[in-house]
Amino acid sequence: MKYISTRGLSKEYSASEAVIKGLCDDGGLFVPTSFPKLSCSLSDLTKMDYRETAYTVLKEFFTDYTEEELRACVNNAYDEKFDTDEIAPLVKKGNEYFLELFHGKTIAFKDMALSILPHLLTTALKKNNINKEVVILTATSGDTGKAALSAFADVKGTRIIVFYPKGGVSKIQELQMVTEKGANTKVVGVKGNFDDCQTGVKNIFNNEALKKELDDNGFVFSSANSINIGRLFPQVAYYVWTYSRMLKMGEIKEGEKINVIVPTGNFGNILAGYFAKKMGIPIDKMICASNENKVLYDFFMSGEYDRNRDFILTSSPSMDILISSNLERLIYIIAGCDAKKNAELMKDLSEKGKYSITDDMKKELSDFIGFYATEDQVFDTIKSLYKETGYVIDTHTAVAATADRNIKQDNKSVVISTASPYKFTRNVMKAIGENSEEPDDFKLVDRLSEIAKVKVPNAVEEIRNADIKHDTVVEVSEMESLVKNSLIK
Ligand SMILES: *Cc1c(COP(=O)(O)O)cnc(C)c1O
Repeated sequence: MKYISTRGLSKEYSASEAVIKGLCDDGGLFVPTSFPKLSCSLSDLTKMDYRETAYTVLKEFFTDYTEEELRACVNNAYDEKFDTDEIAPLVKKGNEYFLELFHGKTIAFKDMALSILPHLLTTALKKNNINKEVVILTATSGDTGKAALSAFADVKGTRIIVFYPKGGVSKIQELQMVTEKGANTKVVGVKGNFDDCQTGVKNIFNNEALKKELDDNGFVFSSANSINIGRLFPQVAYYVWTYSRMLKMGEIKEGEKINVIVPTGNFGNILAGYFAKKMGIPIDKMICASNENKVLYDFFMSGEYDRNRDFILTSSPSMDILISSNLERLIYIIAGCDAKKNAELMKDLSEKGKYSITDDMKKELSDFIGFYATEDQVFDTIKSLYKETGYVIDTHTAVAATADRNIKQDNKSVVISTASPYKFTRNVMKAIGENSEEPDDFKLVDRLSEIAKVKVPNAVEEIRNADIKHDTVVEVSEMESLVKNSLIK
């Protein structure tokens, strides 16, 4: 399996090279030259645990890793860091199914991929005889930041710098990041929104002069963002797992189609579901659930992607995104893997902030349904699900659950549950009608534990009394010099 750019650069890369590079030199994203099929039957899958499932999926993509290397990556990632041996439990509440992806170290779904990325990356460096120190640069809308920090903290041969929008993340999210103790970590608030952070990081990656200077000083950049194939493909595994659990629990017959409903921001999670479908998993519709930043909903309705609009701060900040980076891979695929066409559209996006796809491309979107939830709907969904079942979900998951409740569907559908309610306690408690005026976030946490009858996760306990280690705040225009100055003394 080789990897090429969505924008037409003719060079082919191995999987391990693509993991190291993160982004192609022409600004495009890495895509596989063909789509692999799963090597086993659906009923075989029901006999596998999460690790075996992940290995079965990943071996089709990371073909230049040996079995031993890849199994080591998987086994080191999906271990006791997760608070359940199932890793990603599928639960049924009332008539609804939820795939809980928040049992990792930082209680959000980003842990699923970021737990394995450092292993894929350090293995890739060894395989390619690169003796430089890797610098992970990451823009975060809240959850990636901490998940990447804990994944890379004190990993030999790596450093990590995380940029987050100051004021654009929840209190708990910010505390999780700024209390990070790893000696090789740096956390920086940016006076701007997530798109500013992401664009800033992309510009640094595309700055050849800076790259050269760092290279001379023994550093090589890489990205832990969801554009890296080392994050994308591990996410395919839990869609395969979802299907096998539905089958094993007797909720579906072998071959019966399911829908998946994905709370979407950067389009990485849902794209992984689409890849699982392409691998042969009987998924019918991919339902793309957005919050009030409904640029994707409008795109699925009209075929026009238009980021020229106000950026809205919602109760699901990890989905407050106007440029969904991973959509580029879907655009490339629905253009018939036409890199020239894709590059044209991406040029429109960067110059005009919008593009329109052709009618033929639009037809290829029938696997997807766009949806968006208003803030009121999100709060109502949390409240009514709690009243009906006692189950408490977070604000991001609630965007998807709202879609589940509002779209008429022919199949059983699984809501992809992307964060623990403990990460967004204030808004969750507000939705349920509890006293969200309480100024102390940790009192709210304790109250949530009482009403949800779920133990406070370690990730929250750990920051209760932790010291603030990072307090740097910069302008968007200062991001580049900050990177340079923190690496080259
Ligand atoms: C990142 C995130 C999302 C959005 O996922 P994408 O892959 O960016 O679409 C949704 N929910 C939570 C809790 C997240 O952290």
